[in-house]
Amino acid sequence: MFIDKTEQMTSDLAIKLEDQYGAHNYHPLPVVLSKGEGVHVWDVEGKIYFDFLSAYSAVNQGHCHPRIVNALIDQAKTLTLTSRAFYNDTLGVYEKYMGEYFGFDKVLPMNTGAEGVETALKICRKWAYEKKGIAENEAKIIVCENNFHGRTITIVSMSTDPDATEGFGPFTPGFVTIPYNDIPALEKALEDPDVAGFLVEPIQGEAGVFVPDEGYLTAAFKLCKSKNVLFIADEVQTGIARTGKLLACDHEGVKPDMLILGKALSGGVYPVSAVLANDDIMLCIKPGQHGSTFGGNPIAAKVAITALEVINDEKLAENAEKLGQIFREELKKIDSDMIELVRGKGLLNAIMIKPKDGNTAWDVCVKMKDNGLLAKPTHDHIIRFAPPLVISEEQLFEALEIIRESILSFN
Ligand code: PMP
Repeated sequence: MFIDKTEQMTSDLAIKLEDQYGAHNYHPLPVVLSKGEGVHVWDVEGKIYFDFLSAYSAVNQGHCHPRIVNALIDQAKTLTLTSRAFYNDTLGVYEKYMGEYFGFDKVLPMNTGAEGVETALKICRKWAYEKKGIAENEAKIIVCENNFHGRTITIVSMSTDPDATEGFGPFTPGFVTIPYNDIPALEKALEDPDVAGFLVEPIQGEAGVFVPDEGYLTAAFKLCKSKNVLFIADEVQTGIARTGKLLACDHEGVKPDMLILGKALSGGVYPVSAVLANDDIMLCIKPGQHGSTFGGNPIAAKVAITALEVINDEKLAENAEKLGQIFREELKKIDSDMIELVRGKGLLNAIMIKPKDGNTAWDVCVKMKDNGLLAKPTHDHIIRFAPPLVISEEQLFEALEIIRESILSFN
């Protein structure tokens, strides 16, 4: 297959090209996007859609936010990458901004969410040996069933999802798995003196927006403190205003020992992730022990500062909180026996779908796509709804009408 510059791009052609030349590691909805603005995306034929996935919550500030894109362009014209072999004039400014914004002494900049998680695991182990006094190579980190923290070998070593693990062993040792939202199980696991950290998603996103009981994070944090164990929050998906507060941990006033951010830290224009911690933890890492060529580069620094300014200036956490409540209330009013459950926080929500006459969550998503709204099933029977946080109330009701009409079409 050959495509020259004069050939017209179509959805069919784009899908064929990906199929023939790309690895088959995703199963996308059959829609080919070529433009985005705010809550909307357009396909190559010009059809407009509401984006209710937001690139897995990376585009919280809306597609192609002009301020963030301009920050990217301006910095790209000036200085893009120095590596950390030299200082540059943007990184320190970004680190100070991040520290003050989230309330931590220090930040370690990376690029993808998975790298952020790997970084936190490394820092936790170093801290275990240097500060907690655990014997070399004995440190353990507690993780939860149905977690999702990324795709590297070490991260899938923590996974309980067969798709993530089967055929990828041998795995990294040093993890203890307990059920999510289970304080007695955590208490028991913490009896082991070799436990150094507890890694947790404040809401399990990929598991299908599983919201733990109120008080879970507070109780877990307290237990960790009582055993001198680091409470590590993976807020790659839940962070940056998505759940109606800046961080999902803020709903319970919990301040993690280590905070992992990614995705919307850049508003979706660039891969930017970070780990935040105070000095007693972060300074366990010494020069040469961890790094990344692109981590903390000038474009990332400028983009992330602007992306965080937009969150504040446009009051996106407040909007997510207010519209999230309306959204869940309205979803619950849809009179369909396909909807088993509505759950979520802020604008991170999901419905559980009971298949009907052979129609599954996938069929509902295809129908919504035909009607002008994009969402993706997770785990066959759950549909996540996570629009950009810049959505207005009017747009939300327009989108709800599409969702309602699509689901009721199976009645
Ligand atoms: N942690 C969580 C909670 C996530 O939801 C994700 C991505 N869905 C990741 C980590 C990994 O991020 P990335 O895809 O940028 O590596």
